[in-house]
Amino acid sequence: MIVIGGGATGLGIALDAATRGYDTLLLERGDFAQATSSRSTKLLHGGVRYLRQGNLKLVRGALRERTRVLANAPHLASVQSFILPTYRRGESLYYGFGLALYERLAGRASLGSSRRLDVAETRRELPTLRADGLRGGVRYYDGQFDDARLALCLAQSAWDHGATLANYCAVVGLLRAGTPGTPVRGVMARDGETGAEHEIPARVVINASGVFCDAVRRLADPGVAAWVAPSQGAHLVLERRFLPGRHALMVPKTDDGRVLFIIPWQGRLLVGTTDVAVENAAAEPRAQPAEIEFLLEHAGRFLQDAPRREDVLSVFAGLRPLVRTGGGRSTAALARDHLLREESGLVSITGGKWTTYREMAEQTVDLAARVAQLPGRPCRTADLPLHGATSDPVPAALRAYGSDAAAVQSLAQTRPAWAAPLHPRLPYVGAEVEWAARHDMARSVQDVLARRTRALLLDARASIEAAPKVAALLAAALGRDAAWQAREVEAFTGFARSYLACESGEAS
Ligand SMILES: Cc1cc2nc3c(=O)[nH]c(=O)nc-3n(C[C@H](O)[C@H](O)[C@H](O)COP(=O)(O)OP(=O)(O)OC[C@H]3O[C@@H](n4cnc5c(N)ncnc54)[C@H](O)[C@@H]3O)c2cc1C
Repeated sequence: MIVIGGGATGLGIALDAATRGYDTLLLERGDFAQATSSRSTKLLHGGVRYLRQGNLKLVRGALRERTRVLANAPHLASVQSFILPTYRRGESLYYGFGLALYERLAGRASLGSSRRLDVAETRRELPTLRADGLRGGVRYYDGQFDDARLALCLAQSAWDHGATLANYCAVVGLLRAGTPGTPVRGVMARDGETGAEHEIPARVVINASGVFCDAVRRLADPGVAAWVAPSQGAHLVLERRFLPGRHALMVPKTDDGRVLFIIPWQGRLLVGTTDVAVENAAAEPRAQPAEIEFLLEHAGRFLQDAPRREDVLSVFAGLRPLVRTGGGRSTAALARDHLLREESGLVSITGGKWTTYREMAEQTVDLAARVAQLPGRPCRTADLPLHGATSDPVPAALRAYGSDAAAVQSLAQTRPAWAAPLHPRLPYVGAEVEWAARHDMARSVQDVLARRTRALLLDARASIEAAPKVAALLAAALGRDAAWQAREVEAFTGFARSYLACESGEAS
């Protein structure tokens, strides 16, 4: 089986296929999780908002998968409490009922019962919440994770089970079994570093290219109608002082009728998200000034100290691969369900959520095995511990490495440059760059600062300042020269500037 796309969906499929014993190759044209899968809100959730849309099946399935990720990747996922503050009469009852239903739908997968809070409790739990007009709140639980690291963990797990994976290798064409019109039976791939092209045959090709799904389908048939309606979502990253304490804040209704979260994540706060329909999927989506204003304005309505543009540590945007349902409705109204279909032997999967990647992979591999007429084998991923999963204690700073943390720690002790921090404002040391090159397939400064570590999201300016040090460490690990380092620093700096809020449009 050949899988096109190394995001959550493709990596989940590669792991599923490999654990069933199918020979599996995954090709990713950029870095693993470079697109949507590193730009999510990082929630493992059923989706409280889909409850409002009445999509109980979607919610129940996702809640089941939420528990599986928490169990199978405990080093990358955890339970997070949320408080939804209420300001109008009857709201506590309304949302209290909705969130109780949410937990009921989880059944045995419940992470804790939701509870209504009075004004004093809400103020105590969220001391920096604006208190004028506050009537109380509702507390509930969901899961939270590190999206790019979970993607890498899936890649490593697939590798552990015998899959072959390549980043920086794009699929540029599809091979047919014979004349045009016969089924797709392989790919033409281009190595992004050497430019070399390879024809690779397969029993079945799976298209898991997210918002780029239609472009890959058109390699097989240029006339197919579009499935994907891309929708952009932006996030801001702020210092914890705006919302200290352990709870996240959930705003149930923004001006455009969506939910908004302010969530503690890796020592910072994530504020998101927006929902803006876009015509064409860009490889590197950028948060628009209006999205930044929208997020600041809504956060400011709920936080005593309203954040300003200069308080933003980083801003990032991603594209949701929403499935078109026709009728020209706003993308906010489109369901986050997935679409799985076979056309001319090409199996395409798109839509869905990070939370449901495993279930999507299971259904995709079932279909792909039928298309390829391979012997049917049962899915093994439901209870499969992922690479690094451990119940042993791991130092907090190296938690994402799970059972590999001790090896990273030993590496740090072997050279002073590997024990040294990458930057005073970032929680990473030099050994992590070496580890990323040796074991995590990092090829560029961006790979290290955006996805192997999450430096770019935690503090965009600090990560720009750390780039020369990272380039030097990476060059030593990969055997590159000074000219390569200079190019890498320049490329990363240009890229990372779009994560600085003050450079995205006019300052407020
Ligand atoms: C703002 C936002 C917030 C979100 N928040 C959440 C959340 O909190 N929880 C949740 O569960 N879900 C969330 N999601 C949804 C979730 O992130 C996505 O459903 C998921 O990441 C999609 O993964 P994917 O693998 O399908 O797509 P992608 O991650 O986009 O992966 C597709 C990959 O295919 C590659 N590719 C494309 N063309 C080719 C080619 N020709 N050859 C080789 N490779 C190719 C691309 O480079 C890309 O890496 C959010 C999404 C957004 C945008």
